[in-house]
Amino acid sequence: MRKIFKGIPVSSGIVVGKALVLADQEDLVIKKNIPEDALESELKRFQTALEKTKKEIKEMQGKVQKEVGGKHSSIFEAHLMILSDPMLTTAVEKHIKTEKLNADYVFANAVSKLVGSFEKIEDDYLRERANDVKDIGKRVIKNLTGGMRETLADLKEEVVVFARDLSPSDTVTMKREKVKGFCTDLGGKTSHTAIIARALEIPAIVGAQSVSLHIKDGEPVIIDGLLGVVIVNPNEEDLKHYKGKQEEFLKQKMLLSKLKDLPAETLDGYKVELNANIEIEEEAKFVLKHGGTGVGLFRTEFLFLNRRDLPTEDEQYSSYFKAAEYLYPYPVIIRTLDLGGDKFLSHLGLGKEENPFLGLRAIRLCLAKPELFKTQLRAILRASELKNIKIMFPMISGVEEFYKARQILEEVKTELKKKKQGFDDDMDLGIMIEIPSASLTADILAKEVDFFSIGSNDLIQYTLAIDRVNSNMAHMYNPLHPSIIRQLKRVIDAAHKEGKWVGMCGEMASDTSFSALLIGLGIDELSTAPVAIPEVKKVLRATTMAEAKKIALDVLRLDTLDEVKTYMNAVNKGSCKYCK
Ligand code: PEP
Ligand code: MG
Repeated sequence: MRKIFKGIPVSSGIVVGKALVLADQEDLVIKKNIPEDALESELKRFQTALEKTKKEIKEMQGKVQKEVGGKHSSIFEAHLMILSDPMLTTAVEKHIKTEKLNADYVFANAVSKLVGSFEKIEDDYLRERANDVKDIGKRVIKNLTGGMRETLADLKEEVVVFARDLSPSDTVTMKREKVKGFCTDLGGKTSHTAIIARALEIPAIVGAQSVSLHIKDGEPVIIDGLLGVVIVNPNEEDLKHYKGKQEEFLKQKMLLSKLKDLPAETLDGYKVELNANIEIEEEAKFVLKHGGTGVGLFRTEFLFLNRRDLPTEDEQYSSYFKAAEYLYPYPVIIRTLDLGGDKFLSHLGLGKEENPFLGLRAIRLCLAKPELFKTQLRAILRASELKNIKIMFPMISGVEEFYKARQILEEVKTELKKKKQGFDDDMDLGIMIEIPSASLTADILAKEVDFFSIGSNDLIQYTLAIDRVNSNMAHMYNPLHPSIIRQLKRVIDAAHKEGKWVGMCGEMASDTSFSALLIGLGIDELSTAPVAIPEVKKVLRATTMAEAKKIALDVLRLDTLDEVKTYMNAVNKGSCKYCK
């Protein structure tokens, strides 16, 4: 049956393909249809996995009992009880039979539901049992798949992925030749999952409510990453319409690529630095392909995701050096680790936080773990021999934090000098302005740093108190709020007063409806998703600085978000997504 869903478009492009549905679980589990005549053996496979898991738990119990005594082995009693819970046994078997679905998928969803109910319990002890359920879930899935679980990195055929949610690390390991597009029930426009989709140029939609529950594996689908529309089982008319739309999209892309070697300047000759954001060093080639003149933000934390250990200093060095060497003589701004928030690293042993975006994230984590920070700083400094690297600290909340981080950088420099290790001692040091406390003290910070880069994704999140990954709040997440425009003006003026430059590396910089406004406010550099470079360049080359300044002045005089939206919609002739 033909079905249409609507979500938030986060990475443009049109895909027509076959759905691959993932279960709602921490580990990726794929949904598969089981033919009637294979149902019995599927049930048998499930029962065998349950039995094998029980046996393993009993063996562990025996071992622990022998080594440390009875008290500690009682945890395994609880695990065995969970394993006999009808929700994970008889209910799963029934579901496999009635829905004709694979055991892995049905079981993973049942685990997820049970975890959800434990997590809602008030009592701390009982709530913590959610982790036991997760643990058991992982064991059973491992036994179901014989440890040979597929991941998005080893897909054999082309698919369009549907999931309740995808983590940034799931997204970064997607095999681009196979994953033609994806759609998630959750997520917002500036979630890191959405950012990665744009970086990898995979058409994507997030926040599409419960689409993953209403779609079967292998069903034909269309993803319209321009408008955020998903069509399941499209008809002939849909296919014809979208074929035309896809051709038009590719034609526009081709026309934009012709701007590659033209300068990023306004009609009256005002030049803007147009750089790109990258997450892994391989993306450096996309920067030049799209006509960027450097990297305005290298999100280094992605090297830390999807692995059980920490990358060594040499590994980090090699990643930074490769990007800097590839892009030489263009600059590469390396942002120090921004782990935390939606980029959680379980093996740092930090435990889950209630409000991770307000927690031990980015520079806070680095200051709390100086060895982790120092290793990265050493790697960056060692990689700076070509003198085109700059360092940038994320989430700086005020000048004290900057001093602390800079002090550690100085210590690392002294250590390297003692070892006679060469590095660029004149390297620029900047900070991201992405917390209101930093923008409110921008005049103080501007005296200390070489540059600012505005992280609009977080600045909007923290100013408006809107979780950037929460699809339910996405309608209130708006870069045009007067509080944001006023902060941008304040930060830019404060930096210019001290003779420092200001860039923007948040997603606001990639949205062409804001390009004129931003340069009118005085921004010196824009760092966008590589694919957005030609789009922004096209708009800049059709604007004059006088027009841009007028837009900025007019907007600064408006009091309400609605007024700004109406004004900007008129400026953009109806094409501004945040003006609706
Ligand atoms: C930002 O917050 O705008 C930014 C560029 O950093 P990130 O998206 O990685 O938080
Ligand atoms: Mg940020």
